[in-house]
Order: sequence, then C-alpha cells, then structure tokens
Amino acid sequence: MQAEQLESIAAMVREAREIVVFSGAGLSADSGIPTFRDGATGLWNKVDPDEVASIEGFMRNPGRVWNWLLQLKKLVDEKAPNAGHEALARLEKTCRGKQLAVITQNIDGYHTRAGNTQVLEVHGTIHRVRCHHHCGFAAAWQEDALEPFSCPGCGAPVRPDLVLFGEMLDEAVFGAAEMRSLTADLFFCVGTSFTVQPAALLPVWAKRAGATVVEVNPHPTPLSKVADFSIRGGASQFFGALSTRLEATQA
Ligand code: NAD
Repeated sequence: MQAEQLESIAAMVREAREIVVFSGAGLSADSGIPTFRDGATGLWNKVDPDEVASIEGFMRNPGRVWNWLLQLKKLVDEKAPNAGHEALARLEKTCRGKQLAVITQNIDGYHTRAGNTQVLEVHGTIHRVRCHHHCGFAAAWQEDALEPFSCPGCGAPVRPDLVLFGEMLDEAVFGAAEMRSLTADLFFCVGTSFTVQPAALLPVWAKRAGATVVEVNPHPTPLSKVADFSIRGGASQFFGALSTRLEATQA
C-alpha cells in the first residue's frame, strides 16, 4: 500500500462522523482460525456445512453440530485476537468523539476481547448457548457441556447461540446493523467474501446511502467493483498502519 493511499484513508477517518467496520472470517485468519472458503485451509474443504452448521443438520443430528462447533469453540479459546483486532480497538480510541461501530459476521468474540466496545455480532457468538425455542434461557457455553441438553426452563433443546445456515438473523441485531450502515459516512469491509446473505447487503446499502466504502482483502470479491478503495492486503497490516498513522498525527 502506498503512503499517499494510507494518508487519503486516514484523512477520511479524521473527517468522518460515523464509521462502520464490517468484518468477516479473514480478519481472524492471522489468529489461526480458518476461514470458511480460503483454498486448502478453508473449513468447508474438510466438512460439509449442511451436516455441521445448518439448522437442518441440527434437526437431523444435534450431537454432530454441537460437537463440531465445540471443537471450533475450543480453537477460538486457545487462540487470541491478532494485530488487526488490536488495531481496530486502537482505532476506536483514536476516534473518540465520533461513532465507530463494528458489525461482525464472526462468532469468535475477538473484537470485544481486543477492546472494541460497540460491536454487533450479526451471526451470534460461539461463547453462549440458548433455548432453541427462545423461552429466555441463555448461558455461557461451558466446555464440560459436551452434548446438547434440555432447556431447564421449558425442556426444548439447548443449542449454540449462533445463526446456523438456513436460519433468520436476529431482527434486533441486524436492524441495528442496518441503521448503522445507512447512516455511516465511512464503511470499511474487511476479510469477507460477501457470499453470506443478508449480511453481504450491508456494504451495498451503505454505499447507496452515500458512504465511502473501503475494502481490505488480499483477493478481489464481488464488492471490489463497487468499493471506492480496494486495499489488496491483510487486515493486520492495513489497520495496524492506519491506526499508527492516526495516533501519530493526533499527538
Ligand atoms: P469467508 O471464509 O467466506 O471469506 C473470507 C475472506 O477473507 C476471503 O475473501 C479472503 O480472501 C479474506 N481474507 C483471508 N485472509 C485475510 C486477511 N489476513 N485479511 C483480510 N482478508 C482476508 O468468510 P466470511 O465472508 O466471513 O463468511 C462467512 C461466514 O464465516 C460468516 O458468517 C462467519 O460467521 C463465518 N466464520 C467465522 C469465523 C470466525 O468467527 N472467526 C471463522 C470461519 C467462518
């Protein structure tokens, strides 16, 4: 990335009133959490998403979905937020006085762990379980909960509190994400392939509503054609450089 391009984006951050960072699995790649679709390392090269991560799969065999997600949760617990997450937490501090929201498709909880305070998890979290019938029961996912159990409130199955393929998103969380996207004047998209709907619509709505859209991804995506800036590189490197630049010019 050229110094002039970094300075242009830093200038946009300084001038923006409302900033959104929309993140996907690629942001956590540097933590050692595989993405879904990247080459030989992608999770979907090893397992069938219909079996281990869909609502139909859960109905057919709840134990298989539970067990696969528990292995993913263990990996997330073993690993940690990376320099990209940390740079985004620093960006929030640098942008005090403006709105800066993170809208994430990730379920690993790393944005909050790194220190961002305005985080919308549109696909839920791997750290919690809940009653499948929404009776109100929810709890942290304890690692000794090795298989699905019945809800202590109503007896329905308890399941991970994340959005499985084939399920609707939580209306309140997605509604808040939509509002943030429509009012943002600067919208960063990082580490997402734009293949999972409806989350992939958010940058398109932001762009139509007037935001400047900056994509950060080592590879082109369907968004690249409409983005105002496409940074072909890794998230840690780009946001590390951006936060350092903003901190230096703020001092
Ligand atoms: P995806 O796997 O479809 O795409 C990942 C994207 O990240 C690709 O476009 C790839 O080029 C890019 N990428 C890879 N390394 C990068 C890096 N260092 N910096 C920036 N970009 C990088 O992921 P997605 O679009 O987020 O979509 C699918 C779903 O994956 C989401 O719903 C999410 O819940 C789920 N998911 C989450 C995690 C997690 O929580 N860490 C992990 C795997 C999948």
